[in-house]
Amino acid sequence: MAILSKLQPLHHPLFKKHNVHVEIKRDDIIHPIISGNKWRKLKYNLQHVMQTQDINGVLSFGGCYSNHIHALAFACFEQNIPCVGIIRGEVEYANNFTLSWAKHWGMKLFFIDRKTYRRRHDSSYLTELQQNFPGYFIVPEGGSNKLAIAGVSEIITELAQQTEFDTLLTPVGSGGTLAGLIAGDELNNIRHKLLGITVLKNAEYLKSEIERLLPTTANSHNRWQLLTEFHRGGYAKFSLSDIKRIVEFNKVTGVDFEPVYSGKMILAFIDLLEQGYFKAGERIVLLHTGGMQGLGGMIERGILNTEDWPVPKRVASSE
Ligand SMILES: *Cc1c(COP(=O)(O)O)cnc(C)c1O
Repeated sequence: MAILSKLQPLHHPLFKKHNVHVEIKRDDIIHPIISGNKWRKLKYNLQHVMQTQDINGVLSFGGCYSNHIHALAFACFEQNIPCVGIIRGEVEYANNFTLSWAKHWGMKLFFIDRKTYRRRHDSSYLTELQQNFPGYFIVPEGGSNKLAIAGVSEIITELAQQTEFDTLLTPVGSGGTLAGLIAGDELNNIRHKLLGITVLKNAEYLKSEIERLLPTTANSHNRWQLLTEFHRGGYAKFSLSDIKRIVEFNKVTGVDFEPVYSGKMILAFIDLLEQGYFKAGERIVLLHTGGMQGLGGMIERGILNTEDWPVPKRVASSE
C-alpha cells in the first residue's frame, strides 16, 4: 500500500545521552487542513458515507476548539457532503478560530450545554438527533468508531515498510487512535510496545473504551499500555514551564508540537527518558497526531505568544 505520511529521524541531545533512536511519523502534515489522526479516522467514515445511497449528511460532536470538528467540516466541504456539528458551549464561540473555519466550510453548528453534551453517547439522545436529522450518519466525538480503527491501523502498515522499531508513543484523547494502532499491530502480526499518553485527568476508564473499540482478533495484544500520569492538570491545561519546555523542544528538533496533545506526549517522553524508562539502544517512534489548528484558538485567547508558534491563518472577516 502507498505510504501516506513520512517518517523522519528526530535529533535531540537527550536522545544521545540516553542512547535511544528516535523517529517521528509526520501525520501532522498528511494533509494541508485535515490534520493527523483525524484524517486517518475520517478516511473510511467518509468512504462509507459516499458509497451508501441513502445517507444525507454527517453529524458529529465536539468542543468549541475541536480538531475533529475542524477536520470533519473541511472533509465534508471537499466532498460536498452536508454536515452538522453539535458543539458543547455557547453560541458566542461560533466566531472563534476553529468554529469560524467550520462555518466557512459549510458546517451547520448547534450549541448545547454541558449537561446535554454529556448525553452524546446515550442511545436515547442519539435517537432524538437522528429524528431531527433524518438520514444523517452520526460519527461519535473525535471520530472514534470502528471505521476509524481501520484507518488508523494503516499507520502501522506504513511503518512496517518504513522502519523497524520497539516502541511507539501516541497522545490519547478518546482512545480511538491507540485502538487503531493495536489493531494495526494485529493486522501486521507484530507486537510493538504501544504507549498511550493520556491528556485528560482520571483517564483510566479509557482502557475499557479502547478494548471495546478493538476488533476481537486484537484482544490478544498485551503490549499496549496507557500512561495516565502525564496530563499536567487536565485536558488543555499546562503550566508556563510546560510551554517553555515544548517551545525549547520544538526549536531543538525543528518540528512543531502543540501543547494539548502532541506536546504532552513530548513532555511525557522527556520525563520517561530522564527516569531511565527506555533500554539502551531502544528504537522509538513518536506519532505526531497533528492538531496545529488548535494553536489558532490559544493564540486568539492570549494563552500562547505569536512569536513562539506557527500562527494558523484566520478566516478573513469578509469571507
Ligand atoms: C483528537 C486528537 C488526539 C486524540 O486522539 P484519540 O483518537 O481521540 O485518542 C491526539 N492528537 C491530536 C492532535 C488530536 O487532534
